[in-house]
Amino acid sequence: MSTQTLTAQSRKASEIISYDPATGEEVGRAPLASPEDVKEAVRRARAAQPAWASFSFRDRGRVILRARKLLLAERDEIARLVSRETGKPVAEALSMEIVPTLDAMHYFAHASENLLRPQKIDIGQYGLMGRSSTIVFRPLGVIGIISPWNFPLATPADEVVMALMAGNAVVLKPSELTPLIALQIGDIFRRAGLPADLLEIVTGDGSTGAALIDARVDKIMFTGSVATGKRVAAAAAKFLTPVVLELGGKDPMIVLEDADIENAARGAVWGAFANAGQACASVERCYVHESIAPKFIERVVAETRALKQGLGTGDAVDIGSMSNERQLQIVTDHVNDAEQRGAKVLIGGGRGANPDGLFYQPTVLTNVDHEMTIMRDETFGPVLPVMTFKTEEEAIRLANDSVYGLTASIWTRNIARGRRLAERIEAGTVMVNEVVYTHGIAQTPWGGVKDSGYGRTHGRMGLLELVQPQHIHVNRLSFLPDLWWFGYGPKAAKLFGGLASHFTTGSILRTSPLLPQMIRRLFGSRE
Ligand code: NAD
Repeated sequence: MSTQTLTAQSRKASEIISYDPATGEEVGRAPLASPEDVKEAVRRARAAQPAWASFSFRDRGRVILRARKLLLAERDEIARLVSRETGKPVAEALSMEIVPTLDAMHYFAHASENLLRPQKIDIGQYGLMGRSSTIVFRPLGVIGIISPWNFPLATPADEVVMALMAGNAVVLKPSELTPLIALQIGDIFRRAGLPADLLEIVTGDGSTGAALIDARVDKIMFTGSVATGKRVAAAAAKFLTPVVLELGGKDPMIVLEDADIENAARGAVWGAFANAGQACASVERCYVHESIAPKFIERVVAETRALKQGLGTGDAVDIGSMSNERQLQIVTDHVNDAEQRGAKVLIGGGRGANPDGLFYQPTVLTNVDHEMTIMRDETFGPVLPVMTFKTEEEAIRLANDSVYGLTASIWTRNIARGRRLAERIEAGTVMVNEVVYTHGIAQTPWGGVKDSGYGRTHGRMGLLELVQPQHIHVNRLSFLPDLWWFGYGPKAAKLFGGLASHFTTGSILRTSPLLPQMIRRLFGSRE
C-alpha cells in the first residue's frame, strides 16, 4: 500500500495511534489495515515483482543507493521520529539504527550480485561424463516482513533492502507501536524511484500480521517474541510457507579472570542498558570470575551511576524511557521477583524521578541465581544481574543453562582461549571482547538457536534466505544414452556391481578398469 493510499484509507478504516512513551503525547496515526487491504497489497506486490526481477543487480542497486542518499540527508529528522516513537536517545537512533541501515544499503546494493552469482558445483567423475551442475538463485516472489518495535528502522529496513536486491517484492507489517517509521521507510523508497507496489507497508496489529500470513506470501521474515513466533510458524505451516524466526534472547556475558576489567565493565553497562535493554541481544546475564568480581562489580556500578536518563530527544541523554507499558511491567515483575528471592539491588531498581513517562532506572543486581525469573526469562529492560563462577566449566554450564541461544560474549585477553570457549556456547553468535553489535555488520549472519529461532538474516546466509536455489544440470553428450538406462542383462548387472565397488570411491584410477565395459555399453549392446 503506498503512503498516499494509506493516508486516504485512514479516513475510512480504523486507526492506530502512535504515542511517545516518554511523554504520553500522540506522535501520529496510521491506518489499521484490514485482511482485505493486506490481500490487495500482496496481490499488487505479486503483480509488480516479475518486472523488478528482470532488472539487473546494478539497476536494483541504483534504487537502493538513491534511498540511502535520502536517508542520509534526512537522518536527523528520522532519528528524532525514531526517538519519539520508541523513547530511545536520538544518538542511539543514529548509531544503532541509521548507521547500520546505511551500511547495509551500501553493502547489499554493491555486493548482492557477487553473493548471488551462479555457482558451479564439482560433481566429480560425472563431470568427465560430459555433465555439469550449476546453482542459480531465483527470487522467491513476495516476502512478508513482520517486525517488532525495538529497532523499528534497522530491523525491517535491512530486510527490505536484502529482499529487494534479491529480486523480490515486499509487504512489510511493522509493529503497531511504531507504524510511523515504517511509513517513512515506504516513503523514502517511493521517492527513490522504486517502481510502484514493490514495497507495500501494511500498518496494523497482530491481526494484520496474521492476515499477511493468510495472504500466502512466499516467505515470512518474522522478528519478535517467542510466543508470537510459534504462532507465526504454526499459521505459515498451513500453506508450507517458509519462515525465518528471529526471536528473543537471554544473552550471557562471561568475564574470565584474565579480562580487561575496566573495559569489560563498560561493555557490560552498554550491552545491558543500550536501547534501555530492549535489544534481543542485550546482555541479560553476567557471569564474572569470583577472583575479579568485587572490582568488576564496583566498576559496573560506577559506570551505571554516571549514566544520564531522560527524554530521548534531550541533550546528552544515555538512556531514554522504555518503549511500552507492557515491557515496563515485565521488568518491574522480574526485579520484584528477584528481590523477594534474595537478590541485592546495587543501583536502580525502580522507575526513578519521572513517574509520568515509562522510565525504568538502569539496575544492577547481585545475589542472583538460576531459580529466579530474572536469570531465566527474557527481561528486555535495563537490568544487569551479575553472578560469580569459579571455573571455566561452570561458566559454560551456566551460559548454556537457558532455553535461548541468540548471542553470547566472552571477555578475556587470551584470544585463543576465547575462541575455544566460544565454540562450546549454544548461541547463533558468540563475541569475544564485544557485545550486542554484530547485528550492525551487514556482512555477518544474524540469528539464533534453541528458542531464539531459526534461519538467518544479513550476510550471504541472510540473502540466501530470500532466494530459491535452483539446480541446473546439463548433459553435453546429448546423443548418448546413460549407462544406467534400461537393458538390465547379466553384463549390466556386472558393470553396476563394478560401479558400486569402484566408481563410488570417487577415484578415476580405481574406476578405469571398468572403462572397456562402460564404452561397450554406451556405444554397443546393452545386455
Ligand atoms: P511481538 O511478538 O509481540 O510482535 C512482533 C510483531 O508480530 C508485531 O509486528 C506484531 O504486531 C506481530 N504479531 C503479533 N501477533 C501476530 C500474529 N498472530 N501473527 C502475525 N504477526 C503477529 O514482539 P515485540 O514485543 O514487538 O518485540 C519484542 C520481541 O522481539 C522480543 O522478544 C525481542 O527479543 C524480539 N526481537 C528479536 C530480534 C532478533 O533478531 N532475534 C530482534 C528484535 C527483537
